[in-house]
Amino acid sequence: MSEKNTKTDQIKSDAFKYIDLNKTEIAKIGDAVFYFAELGMQEFRTSDYTADALRKAGFEVEVGISGIPPAWVATWGSGTPVIAVHCEADAIPKCSQVPGIPEEKPLIEGGAPGHAEGHNTNIAAMIGGAVAAKRVMEKEHIRGTLKVYFAPAEEQNISRPYFLRDGHMDGIDATFHIHVSDELSTTYGIRQYGVISVEFIFRGKGTHSAVSPWLGRNALDAVVLMDVGWGLMRQQLEPSQRSHRVIDNGGDQPNQIPSYTKAWWWFRDINIDLATANFEKAKKIAEGAALMTGCTYETNILAVCWPTRANRAMAEIIQSNIEMVEMPQWSNEEETLAKNLQQAIHAPIVGLQKRIKPLKEAIQSTSCNDSGSVSWAIPTGRINFPSNVPGCHFHTWSAAVSLATTIAHKAEVNGAKVLAASMIDLFIDASLLDNVKKTFSDEIGTKKYFSILPKDQKPPVNLNRDEMEKWRPLMEKYYIKEKVQWS
Ligand SMILES: [Zn+2]
Repeated sequence: MSEKNTKTDQIKSDAFKYIDLNKTEIAKIGDAVFYFAELGMQEFRTSDYTADALRKAGFEVEVGISGIPPAWVATWGSGTPVIAVHCEADAIPKCSQVPGIPEEKPLIEGGAPGHAEGHNTNIAAMIGGAVAAKRVMEKEHIRGTLKVYFAPAEEQNISRPYFLRDGHMDGIDATFHIHVSDELSTTYGIRQYGVISVEFIFRGKGTHSAVSPWLGRNALDAVVLMDVGWGLMRQQLEPSQRSHRVIDNGGDQPNQIPSYTKAWWWFRDINIDLATANFEKAKKIAEGAALMTGCTYETNILAVCWPTRANRAMAEIIQSNIEMVEMPQWSNEEETLAKNLQQAIHAPIVGLQKRIKPLKEAIQSTSCNDSGSVSWAIPTGRINFPSNVPGCHFHTWSAAVSLATTIAHKAEVNGAKVLAASMIDLFIDASLLDNVKKTFSDEIGTKKYFSILPKDQKPPVNLNRDEMEKWRPLMEKYYIKEKVQWS
């Protein structure tokens, strides 16, 4: 082993010791965010709690970037290189669940939100890793700037394309995206789909539906005709596309012809060009629907994100650190909980993942994540860490079971270690970062990132507000009051 590697390994081992020393604080972050269980754009408790943890560790935190009130960027250090990490921490509607029991049991009855994927564990692992990297950089006088981003409303793919558009991610050399999984792993290549999320708003003329219907222009009919038009259009679309909608305003009551309606559509595809082409076709159909009904229409783009991709050179760095950190050692109780849950949901009864897998190319999934846009603008590596039970179903109670238990806590520690070690590699070894940048530029080729978000488009800050305000008073009694205290 060369002298340089020995020194780097010693620095990583210091970072790991620091993470182990602070493992209860890291777990506290994940658990606190689990019980806040805030929906996208309403992550105010989450934002305060986590920003406080980073301030206490010596980071400067700027809250409310891109006009998104709960968003923050935390910065430490100065000069180059600039290495960043980002993650999401939003919850899911109607997924309230008591953690640690293998059966459906809401913590709050009646449809309260809950964490049912593991975004609460993302932010614990991210902060643990970033704080540890900062500690060893300070001790060893390693130069550079470390940036940490909290990206609200991932479930609606909102925030990171706004961060990029507004210049909040300028000058970054490489980023990590850390996300929950059932394994400690990474991949390279194209991982997910691109998406355009857009509201179609129809305006007509209201009138009494029985007394004077001929005076009206029915905006709900326009929504229905757009639905029919798109439904027939599907036959002529590329098989790769996925498109779906909800009608979130269909009028008020039957005896009133609706003058205002709104349908929220998502157009997904394997690349942003196809997703954009489908959005353009949908606009034509909306125009036709408006013409047929005598209404007008307009669109409001809520989010545009490119397919997530991961740089191979970064994946190789992450993989080498995964092999150093290894999977958590699970206890018998943790194995039993996992198996009981698998039995309850009729999944294969395999327990928790125990082995690390070799590095492999990603298989493109039809899901989306707004980190995709970042991954085309800046070389990006993805770290998956194992807070989930294999076989659990995301966005349902079964995925929530492990998220505030020792399974999640151990996985957060492992994710934090892989992140800290991978950041250290890029801060210490300029040749590694050069290779990341060179291979990224080869991988991207001529496909340079551009933002489709209109320049003056404002983020939808009221998204989920009423729903969250309804539940918060009932959820408050479960909040963890104790703040993070780093050793
Ligand atoms: Zn997610």
